[in-house]
Parts: sequence; C-alpha cells; structure tokens
Amino acid sequence: MNFDLALKEHLIRALADAMIAHADELSDLDRAIGDGDHGLNMKRGFEAVLGDLDRLAGKPLPELLYALGTHLVMKVGGASGPLYGTLFMALAKDIPAAPSLADATRAFGSALAAVKARGKSDVGQKTMLDVLAPALAVLAEGGNDLSSRLRRSTKDASEATRPMKAVRGRASFLGERSIGHIDPGARSSALLINAALDVLGTAS
Ligand code: ADP
Ligand code: MG
Repeated sequence: MNFDLALKEHLIRALADAMIAHADELSDLDRAIGDGDHGLNMKRGFEAVLGDLDRLAGKPLPELLYALGTHLVMKVGGASGPLYGTLFMALAKDIPAAPSLADATRAFGSALAAVKARGKSDVGQKTMLDVLAPALAVLAEGGNDLSSRLRRSTKDASEATRPMKAVRGRASFLGERSIGHIDPGARSSALLINAALDVLGTAS
C-alpha cells in the first residue's frame, strides 16, 4: 500500500480526531475505575500530533510512526503515554514505507510484544492489550471482510473487558470493584483501530 502525502495526512487526522472527539467518553470510563484522565491524556497527546501534522505527514511511514510515538510519550503522560508511545515506535521499527498486509501484520505483532514487555502485562488483565491482541489475531487470520471483522472484533473485545478484574495499572487498585466497567485503554485502542480502518480499510 502506497502511503502518499494525502493518505498520511488523512490517517494522522483520523487518529487524532477520534481521540479528541471521544475525550469525554474515555475520561468517563477512566473515572469509573481510574483517575478520570485517560481522555484528557490522549487528547493532549494527539493535539500535539496535529500541531505537527505537516512535518509528520512529510515523513516516510516508518519515521512518521516513530515521531508520532515520540509525541505520545512526551505529551500523553499517565500509564498509557509510554505504552501507546511504545506501540507506535515499535510499529515504526518493523514496517516498510509501503507495507503489504503481511508487513503490517508482522509489525503489529512486534508492536504488541513491545507493549506487553513495557507494561509487564498480558491479555486478560483488563487493559488495551485485550483489544489489540484480538485485532492482531484477526489480521493474522486474513481472509474476506477483514475490515468489518476487525471492527466487530474491537467492539466485542472492548465489551469483553467489562467482566474482567484489572490486575495492571491504576484500575488494579480497585480489585473486584474494577469488574463491571469497560477498560478506558481498551476503548481508546478500539477507537484508534477503527479510525485507521476508516482511512485504510477499503485497501485491506
Ligand atoms: P493512568 O492510569 O496513569 O491514569 P491513563 O488513564 O491514561 O493512565 O491510562 C489507563 C489505561 O492504560 C488503562 O485503561 C489500561 O488500558 C492501560 N494500562 C495501564 N497499565 C497498563 C499495563 N501495565 N499494560 C497495558 N496497559 C496498561
Ligand atoms: Mg487515568
């Protein structure tokens, strides 16, 4: 897939707009099981990304993703900033400038492994990994209707964090009381994947 300037701009805007438009929803989710800042954190990070749109979009895809990750590390803060930063920076290290679906899947796999290592976390602990890992599984499976299957996977997977008990991050302080709420990071991951699909989905 050829990432020309317009596509890169479109992709960056879609990711940022999704986080900015859903900031209140994400903070509300975080208010239930955390400290209520996840939406604000992501909004701050992606506003910095938008502020750097022209420079970012002018870069080849790997450098773009790395620089985007750097903004998130510097601006998002909280637990999610370094984790999302790691996700984008690890993606950057393993992706060519014009990736095939197989390239993108492999890079996403490396990025997921990097987030797990950074967060000392794994699936089933009520975090962003519970959306990212099922999405990787769908990607790896390939086949028809990939875009709609990915969308369904992110929806089902974020809903599936509701009955989980948090064992990582701030929500783990609540123990059993974290049960019954969707994880905010799972929801932001679902929104980011859907925003990327809005732009790239027809080609995948
Ligand atoms: P903080 O918890 O520091 O206030 P945020 O509210 O921005 O940071 O982000 C919280 C989200 O970060 C959680 O909903 C969860 O998805 C994710 N998270 C927290 N710790 C981890 C971890 N160790 N591994 C993976 N994801 C994590
Ligand atoms: Mg928080």
